[in-house]
Amino acid sequence: MALSSPVWIKSWASLFLAMVAGLGMNVAGLAQNVKAAAGEHNPPEIANARIARALQNISAERIRATVEKLVSFHTRQTLSAQDDAAIAAGRGIGAAREWIKAEFERYSKACGGCLEVKSDSFTETAADRIPTPTQITNVYAVLKGTDPQSAKRMVLVTGHYDSRNSGELDASSDAPGANDDASGTAVSLECARVLSQQKFPATVLFLAVAGEEQGLNGSSHFAQMAKQQGWNIEAVLNNDIVGGDQSALQDSSVVRVFSEGLPQAATEAQVRRIRALGGENDSPSRQLARYITEVARIYRTGVEPRMIFRLDRYLRGGDHSAFNQQGFAAVRFTEYREDYNHQHQDVRTEKGMEYGDLAKFVNFEYVASVARLNAATLASLASGPAPPVKVRLVTKKLENDSTLTWESSTGGLATGYEVVSRATSSPAWESVSAVGQVNRATLKFSKDNVIFAVRAVDAQGHRSLPVVPDPER
Ligand SMILES: [Zn+2]
Repeated sequence: MALSSPVWIKSWASLFLAMVAGLGMNVAGLAQNVKAAAGEHNPPEIANARIARALQNISAERIRATVEKLVSFHTRQTLSAQDDAAIAAGRGIGAAREWIKAEFERYSKACGGCLEVKSDSFTETAADRIPTPTQITNVYAVLKGTDPQSAKRMVLVTGHYDSRNSGELDASSDAPGANDDASGTAVSLECARVLSQQKFPATVLFLAVAGEEQGLNGSSHFAQMAKQQGWNIEAVLNNDIVGGDQSALQDSSVVRVFSEGLPQAATEAQVRRIRALGGENDSPSRQLARYITEVARIYRTGVEPRMIFRLDRYLRGGDHSAFNQQGFAAVRFTEYREDYNHQHQDVRTEKGMEYGDLAKFVNFEYVASVARLNAATLASLASGPAPPVKVRLVTKKLENDSTLTWESSTGGLATGYEVVSRATSSPAWESVSAVGQVNRATLKFSKDNVIFAVRAVDAQGHRSLPVVPDPER
């Protein structure tokens, strides 16, 4: 939270007055909150100098080199060649895959072998847009967390390295895919290059998937594997079409952040509860989107995230959805305004109009800004504590106070907790109550009128993702 802004001062002041005015509050509770309001327990959100330095290392020129290299393989269509001869000739998805792997390995060499570079390879059976069984390979690098207790917590950044042109089965003509999605792949790679120069308590995964254009095949396989292996992925950042196409109506100061409302993985019982409690706007993915907007207020990334409360663009899809289906919090970053002449098009000129997803339409400074926003989010989450668990809103009797309880954040990084709240009609958190190193807090306003969540905070001011309570009778 930007505590220095007038809005925040106002909301803190009114919250504090509300707490003092609350006749029901016991003395210990008041003391706790007074200290909290003075910032003794929980530090304000300030930029971590180490993270800020990492962001400075993100380079538009490096991103340009990555995008141009990916374009140089002529096509990265999932059905394109991946035999040894094609790899040697530098043409097709196999050559792209080998280059991405080598690039991750190069970053790893520069950090003393800190990255584990892996492939997730499988044969996809024939389907709509896959005429014959096809080998699909996701490539990823693991920056293992340095804290044994926190290393099982993971955050992930991804982009798809496959491309396409006008024909969804065209495996041989040029499909440069500079914006869709060499740009997102470059974000994943650049985050790996820069963040691997640092150490984090939790684990960071850098992923490049294939098969997106044929039906989210790579991401679906990876997300299922993660679910089956019980990976604790707290956040998935999918970057797809983040090139900032340089068309006249582009707004290069904005990146859209799409997040699902009703979770795709919710059971019928969970959907009934969401309906009953007014929780349609509070999926874990939406909490991640809100977290990204808070990160953007703390770090100068050069681009403003604009939350879009929708799974994806109208009737369209992307890799974050494959993670959502397995129950992970996942969002999609996409440029403000897409130019449909420059994606899913054969490269050609017609009546003076240039078609095709060429590198010359990409704004590399913009991609670098999006990469900074991704890196800042990954670094903040991987530095910070695990979210609190079993967060409950006590509803044993009818009352106008609201009492929340929770179990401590695991891993020992948390030094306190914050209760955040907002009006039911508001998109973002509006007030923060630092309640200290406790497992219970009573707020002097009614649960009927606001949405609450609880998050953990560490001594440096890194926040966990907030957790919305379940009712407890
Ligand atoms: Zn795409």
